[in-house]
Formats: sequence, C-alpha cells, structure tokens
Amino acid sequence: NKITIAIDGYSSTGKSTVAKQIAKELGYVYVDSGAMYRAVTLYAIQNGLISDDDFNKEALIYQLDKIELTFQFNKDLGYAEVYLNGENVESKIRTLEVSGFVSNVAAVPEVRQKLVAIQKKLGEDKGVVMDGRDIGTVVFPNAALKIFMTASAEKRAKRRYKELLERGDKITYEDVLKNVTERDHIDTNRKDSPLIKAEDAIEIDNSDLSLDEQFEKVLQLAKI
Ligand code: C5P
Repeated sequence: NKITIAIDGYSSTGKSTVAKQIAKELGYVYVDSGAMYRAVTLYAIQNGLISDDDFNKEALIYQLDKIELTFQFNKDLGYAEVYLNGENVESKIRTLEVSGFVSNVAAVPEVRQKLVAIQKKLGEDKGVVMDGRDIGTVVFPNAALKIFMTASAEKRAKRRYKELLERGDKITYEDVLKNVTERDHIDTNRKDSPLIKAEDAIEIDNSDLSLDEQFEKVLQLAKI
C-alpha cells in the first residue's frame, strides 16, 4: 500500500538526498518543491524583477500566469527535472545567486498559492515523496509519514559547499554558511506558512548520521 511521504526541514539538511533514495527503493515519485520556488526565482532574475537592491514583487505577482512549471522524468537520474516555460532549468536553479533570492520570493503569498496548488495536484495519487518546508503542514497535512530533518548549520553548510565546489561554482564556505542561515531565518519568520515542524512529524537530526544510516531510518518508518 503506497502512502504519501512529506519531508520538511531547514536548508541543506539532505532532504532531497534521502527523498530520492526512498522514492527509488519504493518505486515512488519524488517531487522537489524547492525546485519550483527556485524556478520562479530564476524567472524573476531573468526578467529583471529581482536584484541585490530591488525586488519588484508587484510585477512578479502580475506575471505569475506567464510562469509555466512542468516536470519531466529523467531516466538516467531516476527523478523528474523541473522545466521553466519549456526549458530544463535543473542546473541553473542551483546557483548561489538563486539561493540568495529564493527565500524572499518564497515569502510572497501569491507565489506560494500558485505552487502549493501544483504540489497538491501532483500528490493526488499515493506513492509520492515530496520535500520542502511546508509539505507536512500545508501541502499534505494528512500525509501518512512526516519527517522533519535537522542538522547543525555548520554541518549543513559544509555539505552544500562541497556540492557546489564539485559543480565548479566559485564560492567560499563563508558565503554558503551565510546563505544557509539567512534562508533559515527568512523561512522560519515569514508570515505565510513559516517553516515549522508539523505536530505529528518525526524529527531526525542527521548531524552524525551517514547517508546509509539516514536512509535506513526513513525506510523503516516508511514501511510501517
Ligand atoms: O529545498 P530548497 O533548499 O531547494 O528550497 C529553496 C527555498 O525555497 C527555501 O529556502 C525556501 O525559502 C523555499 N521553499 C519554501 N517552501 C517549500 C520549499 C522551498 O518556501 N515547500
């Protein structure tokens, strides 16, 4: 019997890593809700709606209908990649530039409304693992399994720094740590659907867990 699995938590806690592993193991569909917020942010950057000193929220809200987000399953990767108006933006949305603006974009209620509606639709069939910040609280409040992932900010920044270095991005550890803590701050303090642990979520602190240990832990929970 397939269930719905919601994985929430702070930035760079490894939510998507474990969500992908679980989806593969159980034959579930993995949906990366953060990728949608990132794609909307990329649209805002590309269209001059957001920069270091200006965010034209009204214009973004006005243009939301022009943003079409779709997913296409990539067999080699084993999960679906996000497309912005027909273009595969999976790689473009992972830059530190997008990471720097995304939490401000995600704090706009109209943006959340649009994306939550898409996410709820994607979860109409059971057998979905979705990760994000409000999946257990807002998107799937009835999910059979809710996980809330945490880890120290330093551990998280180290992991993300390594990932970005491997991609060839020119960044410093300090920049990554700053981005991770700033996003946590904005995500937990926004008025609309702030990041909080759902009452019935199971908290996993993975600061000292290996990827295998973390996977086994979530898999056991998913099998009950
Ligand atoms: O998961 P990821 O780190 O890629 O998400 C990027 C940002 O998108 C988060 O920092 C948060 O601001 C926003 N987000 C959100 N709600 C979600 C998923 C992501 O607000 N469900």
